[in-house]
Amino acid sequence: MLFTHFGISGPIILSASSYMSANEAYKLILDLKPALSDDQLDNKLILLFEEEHLKSIGKVLENLLPKKLINMFLKSINIDYYKKACDITKFERTAIINNLKHFDLKYDSLRDIDEAIITAGGVNVKEIDPKTMESKLVKNLYIVGEVLDIDALTGGYNLQIAFSTAYQAAMNIE
Ligand SMILES: Cc1cc2nc3c(=O)[nH]c(=O)nc-3n(C[C@H](O)[C@H](O)[C@H](O)COP(=O)(O)OP(=O)(O)OC[C@H]3O[C@@H](n4cnc5c(N)ncnc54)[C@H](O)[C@@H]3O)c2cc1C
Repeated sequence: MLFTHFGISGPIILSASSYMSANEAYKLILDLKPALSDDQLDNKLILLFEEEHLKSIGKVLENLLPKKLINMFLKSINIDYYKKACDITKFERTAIINNLKHFDLKYDSLRDIDEAIITAGGVNVKEIDPKTMESKLVKNLYIVGEVLDIDALTGGYNLQIAFSTAYQAAMNIE
């Protein structure tokens, strides 16, 4: 997952977007530390706070988060970036763990259709002969790739659809 200048992106977001529709409202909750349970995170924080007790909480969190995220992360739970690690209360530590495991992002919208990587919809595959890619409705009309009502998750499958259907048509056009 990528944080970008407009919001979030990357393969997991592109895949998630294929299950979303433009007019729905969504909640976006990120687990920023999926490999660690709440208890493991608590132990890690206690250890970090002991080792770096004179540093600010903002600096200490560099061990766990990308630098640019830390300010926003702490603001969302009302903890001062410059508060010393040794002054962080148990209550605040719990809030940090909760925020790491359930980081709430406001969903605004999907990106514009112009930026879509693949779009669902298109010519119904039932109307196409899969051996030749010729239309069953219009003779000598071959339909391949993105124009077909086939779409897949990101990962090369859409290019494969374009290449394979184009090959099939090219080998059969008379
Ligand atoms: C930013 C981006 C990233 C992507 N990343 C991936 C990826 O990582 N993996 C993956 O599998 N897929 C990816 N895709 C999807 C993949 O590129 C498409 O599914 C695939 O290119 C579709 O191939 P196509 O030949 O059917 O259509 P296109 O590649 O769209 O080709 C259609 C061609 O027709 C031309 N054309 C349009 N109208 C006319 C006209 N009237 N007359 C003449 N020519 C016309 C267009 O200029 C274009 O060259 C990505 C797409 C985008 C936009």
